[in-house]
Amino acid sequence: MGRPKGFLEHGREDASRRPVEVRLRDWREVYEPRSDATMRNQAGRCMDCGIPFCHDACPLGNLVPEWSDLVSRDDWSAADERLHATNNFPEFTGRLCPAPCEGACVLGIDDEPVTIERVELEIAERSFAEGWVVPITAARTGRSVAVVGSGPAGLACAQQLSRAGHDVTVFERAEAPGGLLRYGIPAFKLEKSVVDRRLDQLAAEGVTFRCGTSVETSPHTAAPDGVEEVRAAALLDQFDAVVLATGSTVPRDLPIEGRGLRGIAFAMDYLRTSNLVGEGRLEVPPHDAAGKVVVIVGGGDTGADCLGTVHRQGARSVTQLEILESPPSSRGEDNPWPTWPVILRTSSAHEEGGLRRFGLRTVRFVGERDKVVGLEVLPATEGSEAATAPRAIAAELVILAMGFVGPEPAVLDALDVERTGRGTIAVDAAWSTSRPRVFACGDAVRGQSLIVWAIAEGRSCAVAVDRALMGSTELPASVVPYQAALA
Ligand SMILES: Cc1cc2nc3c(=O)[nH]c(=O)nc-3n(C[C@H](O)[C@H](O)[C@H](O)COP(=O)(O)OP(=O)(O)OC[C@H]3O[C@@H](n4cnc5c(N)ncnc54)[C@H](O)[C@@H]3O)c2cc1C
Ligand code: SF4
Repeated sequence: MGRPKGFLEHGREDASRRPVEVRLRDWREVYEPRSDATMRNQAGRCMDCGIPFCHDACPLGNLVPEWSDLVSRDDWSAADERLHATNNFPEFTGRLCPAPCEGACVLGIDDEPVTIERVELEIAERSFAEGWVVPITAARTGRSVAVVGSGPAGLACAQQLSRAGHDVTVFERAEAPGGLLRYGIPAFKLEKSVVDRRLDQLAAEGVTFRCGTSVETSPHTAAPDGVEEVRAAALLDQFDAVVLATGSTVPRDLPIEGRGLRGIAFAMDYLRTSNLVGEGRLEVPPHDAAGKVVVIVGGGDTGADCLGTVHRQGARSVTQLEILESPPSSRGEDNPWPTWPVILRTSSAHEEGGLRRFGLRTVRFVGERDKVVGLEVLPATEGSEAATAPRAIAAELVILAMGFVGPEPAVLDALDVERTGRGTIAVDAAWSTSRPRVFACGDAVRGQSLIVWAIAEGRSCAVAVDRALMGSTELPASVVPYQAALA
């Protein structure tokens, strides 16, 4: 243990965000890098307590006390080895994880928790900068696996299976791999070069990517022009196993009066096309917010990502509506440590502007000719005064960010795999679907969730597939028990 009392010497220091007026002029990441000395001090705040609740709270079982100690002692190379031992993509979780580990950090009982997520990111960035992220190859087994979907679950599963020696082909209907990492999450949270450099490692390890290839065709997400269609049954003929990592991409709709008006877009259609513009694959976004009065229906993280995108496109004004009442600013008594703190969070996008309104239910879209000009809202709580008098809010662009209802059915129907009552893919304790040789992981199984869960499930699924193909496995045992994965 390097410095067991570091927390007495140093308070928590969060990474600073670039000034609002500067960052709104570009799409680059909001947070600024930290110096090595700062990170050594921050990592040194870890108390190495007897029972590391942070480790248990992390779905990947990241070895937080171990790599914190190594960073505090300036041994970044060993920290890199311990970090990559449990996490294929710490540069994604280090940027984007809501960090349940920090909510469970023992220091958080009467002080500010360790900046675990940031320490993770700085180790990951150091790994790339030092050239420690190199291809890891294995003797080939002659077995082949098709992974459908290239989000964090599919990528983690593919990388682990390739490292077990199998020939892995990832089928992705989008123009490039990454799933929501590329076409959901905006560049100001995750620059796409960060995704690309990790994909380079997978490709060098022997993973084959077939992008622009849809396994069956779904009406829910418009396939890009020229997309090739592959039958799911053909995959079963050509590969020894198939892993479905297709995500939970069917958006929740708002089927109220006026829904058919022009100027109302699903969040993912808005974000996807904005990201395509950022990548230079599309010239003009079909739902451009420039100069418009924008309303985002949905106060969650997806809504916040739309908010930051709307700001950067130069909207005239933007309002974000949330149906729930505002959460408290600090932990309530019914939300004690080490549970995840349910508090009002101010993302970087909220800091950049816009109006947040809580406790409002949208009841009607108002249009002129065929175009939206506003919407009407009621207080969401029953019995509120004025419950019968809708209030009008002007809107020239409405973005629906109300979550997702489950995976798209086309490929599931084609393979005739059983669903859960929630419409997600039903799997057994070995990530096996009801169809022999077909496995599933990620949001397609859990419903819309988090990157850290997707990576954890992808790793866990790879263990199960390897065992099914070879009779045993030497892949590192996953820390995700099946029951926890579905909790
Ligand atoms: C806007 C947005 C922002 C988010 N921000 C965060 C965040 O900051 N932090 C966090 O932890 N989580 C975040 N999430 C959630 C996180 O992105 C997901 O939980 C995670 O990406 C799920 O990974 P996945 O691999 O299961 O699926 P996905 O990332 O959804 O990938 C599924 C892939 O499968 C492909 N696919 C689907 N069907 C087919 C088919 N038939 N043929 C070929 N390809 C197919 C899709 O095109 C897609 O690329 C966010 C989600 C959204 C929508
Ligand atoms: S992946 Fe998330 S929960 Fe796990 S250590 Fe990193 S920030 Fe914490």
